Amino acid sequence: TSPLSEVDPEIAAILDSELGRQRGTLEMIASENFVPRAVLEAQGSVLTNKYAEGYPGRRYYGGCEFVDVAETLALSRAKALFGAAYANVQPHSGASANAAVLAAIAQPGDKILGLELAHGGHLTHGMKLNFSGKLYEAHAYGVDPTTFRIDMDAVRAKALEVRPQVLIAGWSAYSRQLDFEAFRAIADEVGAKLWVDMAHFAGLVAAGLHPNPVPFADVTSSTVHKTIGGPRSGFILTNDLELQKKINSNVFPGQQGGPLMHVIAAKATAFKLAGEPEFKDRQERTIRGAQILAERLTAPDAVSAGIDVLTGGTDVHLVLVDLRNSAIHGKDAEDILHEAGITVNRNSVPFDPRPPLTPSGVRIGTPALATRGFGDEEFTEVADIIATALKPAPDVAALRARVLTLTDGFPLYPGLVSPGTW
Ligand code: PLP
Repeated sequence: TSPLSEVDPEIAAILDSELGRQRGTLEMIASENFVPRAVLEAQGSVLTNKYAEGYPGRRYYGGCEFVDVAETLALSRAKALFGAAYANVQPHSGASANAAVLAAIAQPGDKILGLELAHGGHLTHGMKLNFSGKLYEAHAYGVDPTTFRIDMDAVRAKALEVRPQVLIAGWSAYSRQLDFEAFRAIADEVGAKLWVDMAHFAGLVAAGLHPNPVPFADVTSSTVHKTIGGPRSGFILTNDLELQKKINSNVFPGQQGGPLMHVIAAKATAFKLAGEPEFKDRQERTIRGAQILAERLTAPDAVSAGIDVLTGGTDVHLVLVDLRNSAIHGKDAEDILHEAGITVNRNSVPFDPRPPLTPSGVRIGTPALATRGFGDEEFTEVADIIATALKPAPDVAALRARVLTLTDGFPLYPGLVSPGTW
């Protein structure tokens, strides 16, 4: 037994079931990962008890002598990892980081220009029901209709037409690197601030496997829980001291009250791990796994079954499967893969002829499996399972058995008996 199972057996049972689910399936949602035990420990700690409104050395509460050290470590590690002069590690999430960023660099009613949501952009980049679409005048650039890549000439043309106060570079579903230098030049030409949201690819940046936006952007925001594999939360970086002051005051007291000190401590641990050689190896396996998947899904037998991959491949941790020519849509694919024990999410493809609930795409990511230890051999097997599942009349039971061989071979959280028992 554990304290939780004694006090609240219903919730303890859910934690046990979820641990079993994570152990027995292949997690391929591109935005998810498995945090290390060290991060679970820091996050599930007594630091959750502490109020610490303010910033290290300038708190509105007493008793902050230890949490101050934790936040200072998180700040210095974040800055070192991404080569930034200033950081804020208090945002509770990626979305709250983004709300603070926009509040710091724009006024309500200002024009913002980001990647179209249906082309891979994020809600916080101007979706009409989100604060970003309500408070600001949101405009969007799209991907090229034939290459499905962001065409910087088209971004420039749109920026010249809109003349935004904020130009946004960043995505939730895109499989190529962004040209930050070109974004900077366009922002300068139209007099906009450049905000890069690296939530998805921050881990690749930290490992030196993706261009670093920090030298080009006025401000860079991120989550910690996607490719970085840390606790669910956000952070913000800048090299501009004046901007940093605005960012700090727009996080607290602008957006938030007390920071989550247990999460900030866990962020510090995640940033420490992200500076180590094992992390780079993991990010390399992540990208390589996505490339193996893209190659398999563009092999002749897949293509003849109507399967394809947007942009023909990937430079990052995810693959965008294109099912426009397939008999099955993204919801069917999500369901078949779920039955086989592989968790993914359906996704609209740009210019999708199908409706949003049954779209033509699936987004498949490799970060969680790379964290689990997968390399080329395992990703080759995963890619074949997925290709077989998406072809007509798959033997789902046989695929489920292949998935279980993989999950059994790479135990998740070995020794963790129940989430309440260390
Ligand atoms: N920015 C981008 C590009 C994202 O993809 C996401 C999450 O999907 C976020 C921000 C928001 O992060 P959170 O879910 O922590 O609010």
